[in-house]
Amino acid sequence: MRCPHCSHDEDRVLDSRPVRDGAAIRRRRECASCQHRFTTYEYVETGTFSVVKKDGRREPFQRDKLVVGLAKACEKRPVPMTLIEETVDRIETDLVRTGRAEVKSSDVGARVLEALRLLDPVAYVRFASVYLHFSDIRQFQETIRQLHDSMAASSEPSSEPSSEPGSEPGREQGGEQSGEQSGAADETTGSSA
Ligand SMILES: [Zn+2]
Repeated sequence: MRCPHCSHDEDRVLDSRPVRDGAAIRRRRECASCQHRFTTYEYVETGTFSVVKKDGRREPFQRDKLVVGLAKACEKRPVPMTLIEETVDRIETDLVRTGRAEVKSSDVGARVLEALRLLDPVAYVRFASVYLHFSDIRQFQETIRQLHDSMAASSEPSSEPSSEPGSEPGREQGGEQSGEQSGAADETTGSSA
């Protein structure tokens, strides 16, 4: 299998196991050249489904495309690649389980958003800004506000990004964006704290 990182075509299978109740085999592979680790799936061809885009065009569901999209949203965030792949795996499995031959791209996007909301707030906002095509700053602020509310509601002590040596402590990554955005909204007259 060609390495998605360096295109070398020799690899080593690290792990192989059945998933989706035996409907597929998941293999973790390690590139023999650059040691990049990636996952492949083997399944009966009829198990796939199509994604219907907004303009009505259809294309086969591409797991890799979704992984790339999530990885981009999670860039420089404390979200490990394995978690991204697991997330995509779960979304794909859920979509396969619906038994539908066609799934709307908006359905896929909504599932990604929901997953990212729980994974990482910054990644969530990044993906939302691309996916929802924010047309103005108010939409953006509204999304931030909803995110704030949902985080306050669940009040989970979200895992602190462990500060890497040589970089600023994690707070400037997350706190800054959301805080300043909501502060800029003139509706926020009742200043908290
Ligand atoms: Zn490689």
